[in-house]
Amino acid sequence: MVNPKASKKAEPADYVEISLIKKSYKGILLESPESDKGIVLIKLDSGYNIGFNKKNIVEIKMIKKFSEKKEDVEVKGQADEPKIAMIITGGTIASSYDVKTGGVAPLTKPKDLFRFYPDLFEKVNVLKVEVPFMKASEDMDFKDWQKIARTAEKLLNDVNIKGVIITHGTDTLHYTSAALSFFLKNLNKPVVLTYSQRSIDRASSDANLNLQCSALAAISDIAEVMLVGHASTNDDFCYAMPGCKVRKLHTSKRDAFKIVNAKPFAKIYPDKIEIISDHNSRKKGKVKTDVKFEEKVALLKIYPGQNPDILDYYVKKKYKGIVLEIMGLGHVPTKRSKMPWTKKIKEVVAKGLVVCVAAQTIYGRLDLLVYSNGRELLNAGVIPLEDMLAETALVKLGWVLGHKDWDVKEKMLENMVGEFSDRLEE
Ligand code: ASP
Repeated sequence: MVNPKASKKAEPADYVEISLIKKSYKGILLESPESDKGIVLIKLDSGYNIGFNKKNIVEIKMIKKFSEKKEDVEVKGQADEPKIAMIITGGTIASSYDVKTGGVAPLTKPKDLFRFYPDLFEKVNVLKVEVPFMKASEDMDFKDWQKIARTAEKLLNDVNIKGVIITHGTDTLHYTSAALSFFLKNLNKPVVLTYSQRSIDRASSDANLNLQCSALAAISDIAEVMLVGHASTNDDFCYAMPGCKVRKLHTSKRDAFKIVNAKPFAKIYPDKIEIISDHNSRKKGKVKTDVKFEEKVALLKIYPGQNPDILDYYVKKKYKGIVLEIMGLGHVPTKRSKMPWTKKIKEVVAKGLVVCVAAQTIYGRLDLLVYSNGRELLNAGVIPLEDMLAETALVKLGWVLGHKDWDVKEKMLENMVGEFSDRLEE
């Protein structure tokens, strides 16, 4: 019971009316905050939460008891539709509104998840669902990317499965999509990563369109690691974007992910797919994972006035490689007498640290030959990564360094999975 003055035993999630001396409010009773049990919280019909001091409450009247009855939903679609598999990893797309706390809570059972997106089953039959872990993507690291890759390998090598959809949190989705681009060798079928910015039980959720378009991508001929999501804030079509040329560029909008320095593979509507650019097609043969990874890699953004001594820290901590996100066409503070980055970079490169550089402008391509500061930086021994995204560069550097017998510079500059683009027309 929440309050001794309650007329019946009102529990969190029940619909109640709270009466103060002069006014009353209706809404869903939420759990009191851990830090202040003297507060009674309700979610108003408008969706806003409001808190009352227990002392001011005259009565809590229960209007409707919360009932947790849920329909039982089969985890499958039409038997004769093409068969796909899903890997569920957590994030908002695997969360729903929690009536007790007013926040979002993870959905851990596939059946719970399937209740929310019946439209997915119109075009595909979800034959298998794997849940290697349930995490917010900010808590993931390279070991999680390896787990997802191994799970995908198993599913892609099942002859009955046409493609795989991976649902994932948005915050670090572009790191995972880059990692899978490198980890899955001899890719024979589509691997589609998707997300939602709003939990799937909300009317405004973006999950439904993203999942419907992902289903079409998973049964298409595009045998690539791709991220499928809203192309704009409208709920009309998605883009299928190459996994290593995509980045989260908005905190909350549905079209949070944008393709950078490349073209999407396809425009996907819920009922049709329009191919836009070249892609690898389905092929026979088995996928093989190559998930070797050196975890001692870092990503550092350069800012005006920054002291280069920070690089000594990475050497001391035995880092093997670092990606510097550098300014403009390819510059670091150079002519500052006390702190020339170029001098420090030369020093740490000589000590064995691999230093790669990527553009902090995000869009465009580095060109270290235009200004003398850029040429000096090149002479300091950096590996210039042209138009590669810094996040993709970090993942690739960890993967390349994981292969002890590889020539790091040669591999970092080799276009392995479309991480470099040809110069794009304006
Ligand atoms: N923080 C969440 C995550 O990345 C946000 C989301 O799911 O979109 O897992």
